[in-house]
Amino acid sequence: MPDAAGSPPLPPGSTIGILGSGQLGRMLAMAAARLGLRTHIYCEDRGPAFDVAAATTEAGFDDKAALTAFARAVDVVTYEFENVPIVTAQRLAGLLPLYPPPKALEVAQDRLAEKTFISSLGVPVAPFAAVSGEQDLRAALAHFNAPAILKTRRLGYDGKGQASLQPEDDAAAAWRDVGGAPCVLEKRVAFACELSVLVVRGRDGALAFYDSPVNTHEGGILRRSVVPSGFPGDDIARARDLAGRIAVALDYVGVLAVEMFHLGPAVPASERLMVNEIAPRVHNSGHWTIEACAISQFENHIRAVAGWPLGSTARHSDAEMVNLIGKDALAWEHLAAEPGTALHLYGKREARDGRKMGHVTRLRRL
Ligand code: AMP
Repeated sequence: MPDAAGSPPLPPGSTIGILGSGQLGRMLAMAAARLGLRTHIYCEDRGPAFDVAAATTEAGFDDKAALTAFARAVDVVTYEFENVPIVTAQRLAGLLPLYPPPKALEVAQDRLAEKTFISSLGVPVAPFAAVSGEQDLRAALAHFNAPAILKTRRLGYDGKGQASLQPEDDAAAAWRDVGGAPCVLEKRVAFACELSVLVVRGRDGALAFYDSPVNTHEGGILRRSVVPSGFPGDDIARARDLAGRIAVALDYVGVLAVEMFHLGPAVPASERLMVNEIAPRVHNSGHWTIEACAISQFENHIRAVAGWPLGSTARHSDAEMVNLIGKDALAWEHLAAEPGTALHLYGKREARDGRKMGHVTRLRRL
């Protein structure tokens, strides 16, 4: 696999290939443009990123000829969603530098591999058990003897592919609910709140952290991220240490989001934080960095994969980011008139229920 770790930064005018065409790819492309870097989006279907990139390829992730042509047209490859097929990532990584490394995809795509890997680093996760049939599920439920969540190992996101269970619930029905796919059963954690750590790691191994937002989910979808979170400094330092350990163990390059549960101040400090999942990409809970930091998560991801020095992650304003989901975005005219509010619309035509159409960031100067 080509390794550009020791090679010079890509000069302005170079092209960053991005797998995936969603809003994260769109914001990555916009950040790259600020640095004079071009982007080439590759995706199976046209999404919001296609509107803002210098070049686009609409082709299957298994289309060898299209992938080879794409690899020739770009200088480095990154991705904006974690379900890029591993074989696609590996094929490209054999042709040119690809960041974050495919290992990060392998871990993030399978909840069992993810929890096993994270706990092997001494990083706390919710108690879990592998479930590959009704029998396993019954045994794990009896073992936990507590409320639990059954999650499909693969392709679950925004709370999809999940079933909430009580110890006495019918295992057969829950197994049917998740479609009989391989799962993990997790003990339901009585968390006080959720936070995320947004860490960026350069090609030279430099680590930088954004302020950790406190996140609120509704129906499994992120609704709101707020900084400052109000967590004590010691908790933030520990959260960063846990996230940094994961980034280093993956030999990571780019922005990594680590979603965590905070169990509240009554729990001993060493057990207060638990990792729920990682996202090997820029993250929705970091959108506020566009307005509240000199250098956003998107620009720092581009800097990292292009081998540039990382930019400052310091926050100059307090901020609240709220997602515009489905019909929320119809209020765009009202939101555009709101003082101190930065409106982002992703250019998606159809405002389907549960679909992220845009977001707003409201700033308060420090
Ligand atoms: P996930 O798909 O794993 O990100 O889960 C979506 C949301 O469900 C999380 O952000 C939490 O709000 C909730 N959740 C997931 N796992 C657990 C758990 N083990 N205990 C309590 N809540 C959970």
